[in-house]
Amino acid sequence: MSDPEQFSFRIDARLDGGRHGRAGVISTPHGEVATPAFIPVGTKATVKAVLPETMKQLGSQALLANAYHLYLQPGPDIVDEAGGLAKFMNWDGPTFTDSGGFQVMSLGVGFKKVLAMEAVGVQNDDVIAKGKERLATVDDDGVTFRSHLDGSKHRFTPEVSMGIQHQLGADIMFAFDELTTLLNTRGYQEKSLERTRLWAKRCLDEHEKLTAERAHRPYQALFGVIQGAQYEDLRRSACRGLEELRGSGGSGFDGYGIGGALEKHNLGTIVGWCCAELPEEKPRHMLGISEPEDIFTAVENGADTFDCVNPSRVARNAAIYVAEGRFNINTSRFRRDFTPIDDTCDCYTCANYSRAYIHHLFKAKEMLAATLCTIHNERYTVRLVDRIRESILGGYFDEFKAETLGVWQGRIKTPS
Ligand SMILES: [Zn+2]
Repeated sequence: MSDPEQFSFRIDARLDGGRHGRAGVISTPHGEVATPAFIPVGTKATVKAVLPETMKQLGSQALLANAYHLYLQPGPDIVDEAGGLAKFMNWDGPTFTDSGGFQVMSLGVGFKKVLAMEAVGVQNDDVIAKGKERLATVDDDGVTFRSHLDGSKHRFTPEVSMGIQHQLGADIMFAFDELTTLLNTRGYQEKSLERTRLWAKRCLDEHEKLTAERAHRPYQALFGVIQGAQYEDLRRSACRGLEELRGSGGSGFDGYGIGGALEKHNLGTIVGWCCAELPEEKPRHMLGISEPEDIFTAVENGADTFDCVNPSRVARNAAIYVAEGRFNINTSRFRRDFTPIDDTCDCYTCANYSRAYIHHLFKAKEMLAATLCTIHNERYTVRLVDRIRESILGGYFDEFKAETLGVWQGRIKTPS
């Protein structure tokens, strides 16, 4: 039965010095997520090239899939009929879905996954990637866009996004929001933020309605998404606005997602502003980060979970994460290197395969190359965040951060 009590969050330990970072446990109808936690991305209900059982073995506690992609293919009704996302993809654990807003708008203006995250160029509200045709237009009611698959026309509104996400059936869903870029003007950011707040209210209303209609399904938690780009007053008022927001039936958000355009050097500051305003007892998800420096910064400033497609995406291009940084296994110096990718790693790939073999698989364009490297990179990231959690519980976060980033920022190009 659908009951909001099926979702909860408890805090086990906090960082000292007035910092917002903490370790806790999110409980969902499909199991628990010990936080901080890295949530690997399975865009189309699969982490590319890796079995769900393997994701479980490498320590992944939950997976995040994309509502936009699953809406276009195979369609949310099919996932619903299968019994929801977890059952459909044979994943025994919690799942997240994003709202589709990011993909609709970023694919729609041709930026793919790197939506103007750097403030370069002149401020321009008609921002669009060079040489791309505009595929998405935003109005106060929703977004009209063309599919990146076949050019067909579609429309997402807060109600449509909620309908899709209820059919997908993930344990944690996100409210439909407008994604702006750092190139948008301040005036546009203000207008957009109010639009996102009104959409958030519509998401809560629709969520209440669908939760009641689908009472036979497990409860799905809804997170509000904070935008506001690089502006402190906008970020803070967005947080307060979402915290106060209630659906017609009186329900509020179960947690919050920190989204939107921000530059790397501002990450900690922006997460800090948000976490200072957000209610302490609710979980906070940071959308789209996976680099070690970013993870430490986000955790320290109060984020509980993160997702990112990068560990698997770069793995398919032969880029490997190790303690000292990232290197490319494709280079010829690894042809006769029969040592593991990383002799300090406990993953299946490092236990069983050599750099020479993986180098060979990439050169021969064998599919197993992507599988073995994805296993390693996902394990690297999941384990790093697990160790951060242990360091918070054990009271040695600052020492662990200094040591880990000291080695990482040494940034050797290829390990010896
Ligand atoms: Zn490994």
